[in-house]
Amino acid sequence: MLSIQQYIRAKSLEHAFQLLSEDEQNAILGGNLFLRLSNRRIKTAIDLTDLHLKYISEEAEYLEIGAMTTLRDIETSVLLRGFYSGVLPRVVTDIAGVQVRNQATVGGTVGGRYGFSDLLTVLMALDAKVELYGKSVVPLASYLANPSKLEIIEKLLIPKTKGRASFQSVRISSGDFALLNVAAVFVAPYWRISVGARPAAAKEATTAMEFLNKLTSTGRQEIAEAAANVGVGMEFGDSMKTGAAYRRMICPVLARRAMEEIWNADNV
Ligand SMILES: Cc1cc2nc3c(=O)[nH]c(=O)nc-3n(C[C@H](O)[C@H](O)[C@H](O)COP(=O)(O)OP(=O)(O)OC[C@H]3O[C@@H](n4cnc5c(N)ncnc54)[C@H](O)[C@@H]3O)c2cc1C
Repeated sequence: MLSIQQYIRAKSLEHAFQLLSEDEQNAILGGNLFLRLSNRRIKTAIDLTDLHLKYISEEAEYLEIGAMTTLRDIETSVLLRGFYSGVLPRVVTDIAGVQVRNQATVGGTVGGRYGFSDLLTVLMALDAKVELYGKSVVPLASYLANPSKLEIIEKLLIPKTKGRASFQSVRISSGDFALLNVAAVFVAPYWRISVGARPAAAKEATTAMEFLNKLTSTGRQEIAEAAANVGVGMEFGDSMKTGAAYRRMICPVLARRAMEEIWNADNV
């Protein structure tokens, strides 16, 4: 069971960082949905609610999403519907129920580095960057690969380019965790593909991306060939819901569906 000794609403990011640095048992709160399911003993729970981090904005080079933005904010964002085939609102719509989406935050999703996450898979394919307190900006892939307890996510930066995107997943029932998920993004002439719920956290499909990005044009044949390579170099594991062999088998199928959805939108 989670226990919290003290709860503080931070007055600034500097204040939040100072509190976080004081003891390694202190923690930042997002929507507190997953933290409260844990057995952690938190000395000071640091709430970022008053720090104006709940926003989605369009800047010169990036779409910016503040750390306290909820999945429901993403789902209902008219701005985000206009980018990347509306993939961000679409992917969160299928996550659990509306009560969960009203509470779950972007900061908690990225900070939790959850293997099952749908949103992380899409954000990685979108080449999102994580801006941490102190203004350091790191690619999402390296943020996920290098856990540190002493960091506060301030916002996410998503390149503001015109591109298409698709998200595909398999789950036993709607609202359940994905058995595997795949996201593809095409910003001409480059493809980006990521695979999540392996059940480990999202990873870039580098072999398939290198293959596609060397081509001068992409057709159905090349998509089929690339899809077959999406799982190359990736580890697939077992979980209570399914095994590594099934995940490995459906990976090229989902990858092909994602790429074909994008390709069909431009060519049919
Ligand atoms: C019943 C249920 C079903 C779900 N199903 C799905 C699903 O199918 N697909 C999916 O993608 N997701 C799913 N989720 C996960 C959900 O989308 C969120 O990712 C998750 O709840 C974490 O968000 P939170 O805001 O509650 O984070 P919290 O639980 O508050 O925090 C999670 C972690 O992130 C850290 N953290 C929070 N904010 C920051 C910050 N600003 N900087 C640094 N670290 C921070 C915390 O310290 C903690 O370690 C589900 C969640 C629930 C409860």
